[in-house]
Amino acid sequence: LLTARGLRKRFGDHEVLKGIDLEVRRGEVVAVIGASGSGKTTVLRSLNGLETPDAGTLAFDGGPEVDFARGLAKPERFAIRDRSAMVFQHHNLFPHRTVIQNVIEGPVTVQREPRAEAIARAEELLDRVGLAAKRDAYPHELSGGQQQRVGIVRALALRPDLLLFDEPTSALDPELVGEVLVVMKELADEGWTMVVVTHELQFAREVADEVLFLDGGVVAERGPAEQIFRNPQNERTRRFLDRIL
Ligand code: ATP
Repeated sequence: LLTARGLRKRFGDHEVLKGIDLEVRRGEVVAVIGASGSGKTTVLRSLNGLETPDAGTLAFDGGPEVDFARGLAKPERFAIRDRSAMVFQHHNLFPHRTVIQNVIEGPVTVQREPRAEAIARAEELLDRVGLAAKRDAYPHELSGGQQQRVGIVRALALRPDLLLFDEPTSALDPELVGEVLVVMKELADEGWTMVVVTHELQFAREVADEVLFLDGGVVAERGPAEQIFRNPQNERTRRFLDRIL
């Protein structure tokens, strides 16, 4: 579905990405793990054009290859952005709009979907994550876990090829983490293609097909989840896992 090659990104003197390759196949879940500051979020944001790498290429199946070294022209940025939808660490819902208004915003204003259709689909999606009754609530009336589930529904409503998750549970109280991970696991089981930046290693182990371990802006190790967790080859992966697990 997606091939990224040689992604590099520098913020001032700090080279945050030092040449990252990433391939995502349709229906696959890729987990990106690594210490704080290793570049995980920057990789994810590069995949949907929220961040423009200094160098590297990115191509979706059936789309043009974007060469970041040449900059990102507006049509290219839109071409990339339309393929994926991001679920953020902080849900980023519009505070003065209801749940349903938040969910249909993208489909109606950006994708020009007829309002009635967008509403019907949004209701169906909300029902699937157990939030049909919260349709007309405002974000502040919801728990953090509910807000994040609305964030996921909002991403699904865009009907993207690829779902990007940026540490979707790390801002939640521990008792609310589970309900969000359950939804994510269901999406994986349904065959959604997902790239998940996460500190939830147990989730990565259970759900991911492939795990990338980032260290200092490079992919220090990658492989099937079981292999990475059971038998890491790289000393740095081993130390990271020992510290956390
Ligand atoms: P965390 O787990 O803490 O979110 P991460 O692995 O996702 O970390 P990134 O968020 O990608 O790491 O950030 C990598 C480095 O780049 C950090 O040192 C961060 O301070 C820096 N950085 C990220 N975005 C910017 C920016 N817009 N301007 C300057 N520095 C940035």
